[in-house]
Amino acid sequence: MSERKLLRKPIQAAKQLGEVMRDYFYRMDRIAKGEEEGLIAWCTSTGPAELLQAFGFEVHYPENHGAMLGSRRVAADYIPLANAIGYSPEICSYLTSDVGSYLKGETPLSQAYPGIESVPKPDVLAYNTQQCRDVREWFEYYGREFNVPVIGINPPKGMEEVTAANVDDVVQQIRELIPLLERISGEKFDIDRFRESMRLSRECSDLWGHVLGLATNVPAPWTFFDGCIHMGPAVCLRGTQEPVDYYTTLMEELEQRAADGVAAVENERFRIYWEGMPIWGKLRALSEQFSELDSCVVVSTYCNSWIFSAFDEERPFESMAQAYTEIFINRNEPAKQAYIERLVREYKVDGIIFHDAKTCPNNSNSRYGMPQRLQNELGIPTLTIDADLNDLRMYSEETTRTNIEAFVEQLEDTEEARSG
Ligand code: SF4
Repeated sequence: MSERKLLRKPIQAAKQLGEVMRDYFYRMDRIAKGEEEGLIAWCTSTGPAELLQAFGFEVHYPENHGAMLGSRRVAADYIPLANAIGYSPEICSYLTSDVGSYLKGETPLSQAYPGIESVPKPDVLAYNTQQCRDVREWFEYYGREFNVPVIGINPPKGMEEVTAANVDDVVQQIRELIPLLERISGEKFDIDRFRESMRLSRECSDLWGHVLGLATNVPAPWTFFDGCIHMGPAVCLRGTQEPVDYYTTLMEELEQRAADGVAAVENERFRIYWEGMPIWGKLRALSEQFSELDSCVVVSTYCNSWIFSAFDEERPFESMAQAYTEIFINRNEPAKQAYIERLVREYKVDGIIFHDAKTCPNNSNSRYGMPQRLQNELGIPTLTIDADLNDLRMYSEETTRTNIEAFVEQLEDTEEARSG
């Protein structure tokens, strides 16, 4: 590590973040062990979580577990086990690493939280395929393993704009889940509980959007890599009070940093957009490399995916349908391009990095000419990194480092050409 500067500026709120996540995992563990009353639902990351909460389910997110396997760099130990039972090495490496860890009877939760021996067993699994087909296949697998119901929503895909007809279709599908959830939970649907969960989710979403937006400040008070760590409560606990409290604390700290002109990356010179999935096992290494290069990754499609501005407790079904169907991943190329262009301008971005994640074509947007179109449109350089979210066998450290260095040199050239 360079002695010249602190490569990762610690965020004080991280302690509270650790406590929030710890309480969440232990609560689910107690329920799963029968030490506390309750039921467990597994849900996709942008699935109908608020509806599940309205029935009193505690919600576990397999994608979050997948990201833990990636961050701890153990995914490649488990992926071959899923391959051996017929799940291709080319499909989602969250899925294959998560299934592999289940087959091996191991979880990183055990190391992080002593006493937890496994992920909490589900009473129901609820998916939303607006992000990809893989989530459904993933949940169907566990439905067979645990012999529990698998329910879900299959929205229309790839729209420019989400129409009223699209929303009606999804509303209908959400409503059809209600009698199933009543039967599984033994509880009558209570619209007020649903509204409350939607209200809290919206509050969480607004705060999350606000803290991300603080990186529009120059210099940025925090980075995409920090965001990947601090997004846990928005992903796993939205719809409850905990993330609202947590993001209020984080907001105060980051607002103070912004007001004091404190930079996440000392001598911030270049501001970068990260498009696509994180490379979970390389967050620290990449974060440090960008800092060394006086470059700050200030914005990403990924972290912004948990901003659900359409949520409205007065129209819980319609607004849930709207918010979860209109997410970036479910839109067509022109809509995605317009979204990125808007953020590039808002965050004063100098260059865009596309992560082509080999096992997630759904979240890899460099494959149909987008980098070239954005480069032409915005006059800023782009770089595509070939890697993966979890499977580090598809990642070349040396190639990536060299490509990033060359990219930052290109940013320097562009800056000189502009000023010269
Ligand atoms: S969107 Fe990509 S990373 Fe997420 S579950 Fe689907 S295939 Fe996996």
